[in-house]
Amino acid sequence: MNRYDVIVVGAGPSGSASARLLAASGVRVLLLDAEAFPRRKPCGESLNPGAVAALGRITGYAHAREAFDFPSSPIQGWRVSNGSASLEAVFPEGQYGAGCRREQVDHWLAEQAGRAGAAFEQRTKAERLIWEGDRVAGVIARSPAGKPMTIRASLVIGSDGLRSVVARSAKVNRYGSLRKAAFTARLNGVLGLNGKVELFTAGDGKVIGLAPIGGGQANMTVVLGSAEAASLADKDRSGLVLREARAVPELAERLRDAEIEGGVLTCGPFDRPVIPHDIAGMVLLGDAAGYYDPLTGQGIYRALRSAELAAPAIVQTLQTRDPEPLRQYRMARQTEFATGTRVQHIIERLSRHPLLWRSALRVIGASSLMTNKLAEIIGDCPKETNTCIPVMKSP
Ligand SMILES: Cc1cc2nc3c(=O)[nH]c(=O)nc-3n(C[C@H](O)[C@H](O)[C@H](O)COP(=O)(O)OP(=O)(O)OC[C@H]3O[C@@H](n4cnc5c(N)ncnc54)[C@H](O)[C@@H]3O)c2cc1C
Repeated sequence: MNRYDVIVVGAGPSGSASARLLAASGVRVLLLDAEAFPRRKPCGESLNPGAVAALGRITGYAHAREAFDFPSSPIQGWRVSNGSASLEAVFPEGQYGAGCRREQVDHWLAEQAGRAGAAFEQRTKAERLIWEGDRVAGVIARSPAGKPMTIRASLVIGSDGLRSVVARSAKVNRYGSLRKAAFTARLNGVLGLNGKVELFTAGDGKVIGLAPIGGGQANMTVVLGSAEAASLADKDRSGLVLREARAVPELAERLRDAEIEGGVLTCGPFDRPVIPHDIAGMVLLGDAAGYYDPLTGQGIYRALRSAELAAPAIVQTLQTRDPEPLRQYRMARQTEFATGTRVQHIIERLSRHPLLWRSALRVIGASSLMTNKLAEIIGDCPKETNTCIPVMKSP
């Protein structure tokens, strides 16, 4: 195997984005994924405006959605409802998100990483980290043929999602207290799709998300408490998803003739905090760096943005062997996501108390100032962002 500067474990948005940015700066990158691409991933499949803008910056396209070679649907905002109360939040003028199939956008981004020069090994599963003293020096992985592989590099990037092997092998991730699970499906024949992410909340933690993903299809994600979901998981999942959704009065008629295409994916729990750490030779990005709840649909933005924030720090650390830039990346990530994280926690907690939640929807929904601010926060609406990544000098 060639000698690499960096091994990126996981080719989701955070891994492929960082592989692309680093390879374009002259870093020798190996991108690994346990799956064969294109692969599905449980997700509401809506990119918020911040994610669409970040994809554009990372891949060099002014308008990333126009560069997609697969169907997608523009998303102009959000509608959240709970029976009689609802609020609509529209993204600022000129800013839009995109609904699209995760296997297609993730595959496209992994190809962009390959075009920039990253090597991409699929069906190659990282099993644990290699340590030299207290420093990470590579990974032990399993090849597609099932053979163990020892791969060394100066730096390992853990982009391997919620159940990160990299974070677990470094003993830095935990299970949080929030216990939820999701069922995700693609539907044909949904009536009244309106260019928005729609969330139907029951007030007891149950949430049904609906988003157009192009080609006339919608993504539907049903989120339940983990215990409730576990008791249903072995039953007919397609029937379950449609039954739960049709039980919402606003959806019954719109889903009357809807049919599920493909399988129903399940996942959970989601709450995976990561403890502060400072480990030489390892960086965590995206969900592997900590995740809370999918309700506000900001995970893809955070995955991409964490790759953008980390890339210059990684190049500097590779060149100087000084771990300080990586420490600064961790702090920058925490600072930049702090407001969104606070809002996520507030929304998640409020949404469990029907009376409070309905009042909040009414009060916020009646004020254009507040709905605009909310749209801006949950849309991670882009401000001027310029990430300058130094070019890697040859040794
Ligand atoms: C139910 C649900 C709905 C969501 N809806 C939305 C939404 O609508 N919008 C939004 O922005 N976010 C949403 N999210 C969050 C979003 O899916 C994640 O935040 C995002 O995918 C994180 O990207 P990532 O690159 O960190 O990890 P992932 O996208 O999870 O990618 C991780 C990759 O690592 C690979 N991998 C895992 N383990 C290994 C291993 N040991 N070796 C090699 N490869 C490995 C996996 O195969 C995968 O390809 C949702 C999440 C959930 C659970």
